[in-house]
Amino acid sequence: MNKELRQAIIAGNWKMNKTRSEAKTLIEDLKPIAEKATCGVVICVPYTNLETAVELTKGTNIKVGAENVHFKKSGAFTGEISADMLTEMGVEYVIIGHSERRQYFGETDLTVNRRVKAALAAGLKVILCVGEMLSEREDGITEDVVELQTVAAFTGVSEEDAKNVIIAYEPVWAIGTGKTATAEQANEVCSFIRGVVAKRYNKAVADGMTIQYGGSMNPKNAAELLAQPDVDGGLIGGASLKAADFGVLLEEASK
Ligand code: PEP
Repeated sequence: MNKELRQAIIAGNWKMNKTRSEAKTLIEDLKPIAEKATCGVVICVPYTNLETAVELTKGTNIKVGAENVHFKKSGAFTGEISADMLTEMGVEYVIIGHSERRQYFGETDLTVNRRVKAALAAGLKVILCVGEMLSEREDGITEDVVELQTVAAFTGVSEEDAKNVIIAYEPVWAIGTGKTATAEQANEVCSFIRGVVAKRYNKAVADGMTIQYGGSMNPKNAAELLAQPDVDGGLIGGASLKAADFGVLLEEASK
């Protein structure tokens, strides 16, 4: 429980969506809606929209995040972006270890850990994604999978730095599929992850950590999911692309 000890955060993950002009429109539509939110509001946007997003959200309660970051400070890594490049632009958050990166781009627990450490060292706040595949849930190993992913991601991360990590529990079978975990399933795993963090650090760090649910959260199912004692907001894909839908989630998380 101890929900009052941490901030609920609704973070949009735009993925590979929105050209710059489309991004401008969405952010302008979002600003008056987000203004009323008492929860944290983050939009994680494609690299090409970061500068626009930082510029347009100045002086608002909307924070900007990237969708990935490389673990090296600089060098011969064609196509990659460093943490320093992000912070210099005014970017505050970064998603690391999203299941789409793990599935399609060879992301491993090792590279996730390296990215987490690089991002934290540069002063970014990390949204760390963990979650099981359908076959793993069916095999009854959900807890083993998320524990391994969580422990690996925090290897070598100090207690102080861990306070700048948000965990997003995202069952892979629920991402972009329209299939949502039940509120009970979401709470059960978020609560389990909180226990893993308590074991790795201590109860105070675990109680203070924002642990989101992500996976087809939308205006219809958000209220029940967000009311769960161990669910502190959400990482939102599809429903973050429409200002009105995202607004409903902000409203629910602000209750
Ligand atoms: C996501 O991309 O992190 C996500 C949860 O997507 P969706 O809400 O579309 O399932």
